[in-house]
Amino acid sequence: MKYASEFRDPAAAKVLLAEIATLADRIGATRAAPVHIMEICGGHTHAIFRYGLDKLVHEGVEFIHGPGCPVCVLPMARVDEAVELAERPEVIFTTFGDAMRVPGHRRSLLQAKAAGADIRMVYSPLDALELARRNPGREVVFFGLGFETTTPSTALSIQQAAREGLDNFSVFCNHITVPEPIRVLLSDPDMRLDGFIGPGHVSMIIGTHPYDFIAEEFGKPLVVAGFEPLDLLQSVMMVLRQIAEGRAEIENQYARVVPEHGNPVSLAAIADVYERRPSFEWRGLGEIDASGLRIREKYSAFDAEVKFAMGYGGATARVTDEPEGCACGAVMTGRIKPTACPQYGLGCTPEMPLGALMVSSEGACAAYWQYGGARAAE
Ligand code: SF4
Repeated sequence: MKYASEFRDPAAAKVLLAEIATLADRIGATRAAPVHIMEICGGHTHAIFRYGLDKLVHEGVEFIHGPGCPVCVLPMARVDEAVELAERPEVIFTTFGDAMRVPGHRRSLLQAKAAGADIRMVYSPLDALELARRNPGREVVFFGLGFETTTPSTALSIQQAAREGLDNFSVFCNHITVPEPIRVLLSDPDMRLDGFIGPGHVSMIIGTHPYDFIAEEFGKPLVVAGFEPLDLLQSVMMVLRQIAEGRAEIENQYARVVPEHGNPVSLAAIADVYERRPSFEWRGLGEIDASGLRIREKYSAFDAEVKFAMGYGGATARVTDEPEGCACGAVMTGRIKPTACPQYGLGCTPEMPLGALMVSSEGACAAYWQYGGARAAE
């Protein structure tokens, strides 16, 4: 297939839906006892709701929304620290737009900007570098956020800053990795997950082998998937086929984009710039060993945690409670659906968010709200 429209072909979708139904029946999946398939990536959650795939698939297939929205899993303490950095008079704080409306305890970055902080939205860390070149008298801080998809571009910007000898550019590094939280979820005896749809963009960087433990240690299938409706339907079919045949393997539906061993240039930049933190706090999941990245000592001149003496001992410095009544953690780990959160549509809306899941472009609550969930709340 060459064009996006071919990945949205209704006739092909019908064939896949029929095959999904056959396999679901063969497994014995029903509405009362469904097969639980977790889509790890928030981009997949949005695609599923955008195309109504949750309604189209056999009633015995239930999508469980995973922790793959990097803004959503950021604990409030980190948002608070970003706001505090941004409020320093010498700082130009730069961030992707997604993080602007994420609530902190005191205020969001957007509210801090309205109150006078110099916060600028950028499309890439290279935009932040350019700002640093143009503003030699100010300190430009980039809010480094995201999974392995965005980790390399932050690393490349730090390498470039080092090459140029820039002394007014630094990164507040909050980069995290996908495989570790999946291990935590699979180790939880209360979670019932039968298979996974693996993240397409992350896998483009890391390849498919970092997921091998899911099949080898936990006996669950995972299929790396693209983002078009036929990609997702085919991936669901591939997961069900493995279950029906008693197999647990890591398969790659998105082979047109995802190389088995990832992107070597990106992986080299990651290895050069970062090392693992001993642990990192995830919203809803708590501290997870080796799940966060920090900047290596040789690049400490570009590490905002060092430059501003933020006091990190390798892990998250400050742990804070989530707002009362907020069920973000339960939603993010797939334990409940967004509409089951007592705050959904009441204390938490896109205009007045309580949690990041309601405002991030990859948040599950935002997906429900945007594609019909608001009606469900009513
Ligand atoms: S509705 Fe709001 S408070 Fe509830 S889980 Fe979603 S983002 Fe969190």
